[in-house]
Amino acid sequence: AKSAGKDSYRFFAPEMEEMVLNQVRIENHMRMGLSNNEFYMHYQPIVHSQTFELIGAEALVRWNSPDLGQVSPAVFVPVAENSGLIWLLGEKIMEEACAFLAATPGLPQLSINISGEQIHRPNFIAFVEKVIADNALEPGRLVFELTETSLLADLKQAAEVMQRLRTIGVRFALDDFGTGYSSLSYLKRLPFDYVKIDHSFTRGVIENTDDQAIIQAILSLGEVLGFMVTAEGVETLEQLEFLQDRGCISVQGYYFSKPVSADNFRQNWIHRPAN
Ligand code: C2E
Ligand code: CA
Ligand code: CA
Ligand code: CA
Repeated sequence: AKSAGKDSYRFFAPEMEEMVLNQVRIENHMRMGLSNNEFYMHYQPIVHSQTFELIGAEALVRWNSPDLGQVSPAVFVPVAENSGLIWLLGEKIMEEACAFLAATPGLPQLSINISGEQIHRPNFIAFVEKVIADNALEPGRLVFELTETSLLADLKQAAEVMQRLRTIGVRFALDDFGTGYSSLSYLKRLPFDYVKIDHSFTRGVIENTDDQAIIQAILSLGEVLGFMVTAEGVETLEQLEFLQDRGCISVQGYYFSKPVSADNFRQNWIHRPAN
């Protein structure tokens, strides 16, 4: 409906109309922002829950728009997905993140979020291979994070792409685990090396016994099915201690660090004096 006139929206409630117009506005600003290089990456450490050693990092896109200000990826990534802009944005993200990884030898591995639109695109594998070659990267240092919803469109095709990239060494994480519909069948059918426990479960882990049980269950599944579990959104010492006690090795969250710029990340996590 993006090119339709205003009349096309007349059946929507006013809030709905405002939402649609807002999407179009964001899309137009994104188009300019992409050619003006307004998008850049931040990196958040993923650490060992006991030793605090650096296991890896997650690359997260940022947008500072001169007109809209700092816009959250939770807002603009869905707009990019619905408008096809995710292809160009996704390529820029991949290029910048891989250049960062290549220039940061002390970082064991880097996780990059991949949209469903990207993985279902015919040239995706060729593009990934090209970026890996351009940066002379060890493919085993790359982890692609996918969500269940991103796989929905064509599960068989997604599985094929994953298998192909796995043969060259790229690994995969199932993101936001537990928030979708059919997580268990995905885990059985698709070759994931990591599963990420969504924030919403980590948040409640101290007071909510359901969240405790869910985290415990995901960790047990990981042992049985052979994937590593990363708990996201760790903000407090109490949450960390719960995860340590349950044997969750890989953790990520504000307790350790917010996502930070490449320079800041290298200063704090790579050139840190050994202790
Ligand atoms: P996600 O992949 O689940 O990313 C984790 C989000 O949690 C990030 O939000 C991160 O900044 C935030 N976070 C990290 N630690 C904590 C914590 O301790 N507490 C809380 N409350 N939040 C924490 P962000 O960067 O705003 O990204 C939001 C979502 O936008 C991401 O969720 C992902 O779905 C999407 N996104 C971000 N960057 C990219 C990207 O480069 N490509 C794609 N396709 N999607 C992206
Ligand atoms: Ca993610
Ligand atoms: Ca997540
Ligand atoms: Ca998410």
